[in-house]
Amino acid sequence: LLILNRPTDYFAGLREILVYPGAFAVTRTETDAAGVQHAWRRVHLGESSSRGQVVLAWDAVLAGAADAADGHNVVIHEFAHQLDQENGEANGAPPLRGAARVARWAAVMGAAYAMLHQQVAAHEPPVLDPYGAYSPAEFFAVATESFFERPQHLAAALPEAYAELSSYYRVNPLVW
Ligand SMILES: [Zn+2]
Repeated sequence: LLILNRPTDYFAGLREILVYPGAFAVTRTETDAAGVQHAWRRVHLGESSSRGQVVLAWDAVLAGAADAADGHNVVIHEFAHQLDQENGEANGAPPLRGAARVARWAAVMGAAYAMLHQQVAAHEPPVLDPYGAYSPAEFFAVATESFFERPQHLAAALPEAYAELSSYYRVNPLVW
């Protein structure tokens, strides 16, 4: 779905897809600026790494596919990350051709991300899944879920972001 009209029909960096039966716990460690190591465990329904791996919880995959118009789909979400990771760590900016396009993407998506952030902070009804306010990378993944599953909503709420995503994915789900 995400690469329908691409000249190539594969995810360039993807090596493997792991499917677990259900949600899985991931332990992360990080060393902060003071040299202190932090470790935490988090439960995930999916994960995508810049080393070419996507992990999916099968029950979440089924739940996401059960309603194709609710804006939630873990497969679309993780594979959007995988596209974002084609040029390094996920940062909300997948590879785009040309400086003008990169600049336009940054301006449009940055403004939409800031708007969602503000709505979540102000406890206003968010235009997208509030998880998208976590980081620009999550914003891109969450916006992609909306783009494919709730195109009317996204096009009405964030028309410029919709246009950027339509140009990037080379499809217009509004006419489907
Ligand atoms: Zn994500």
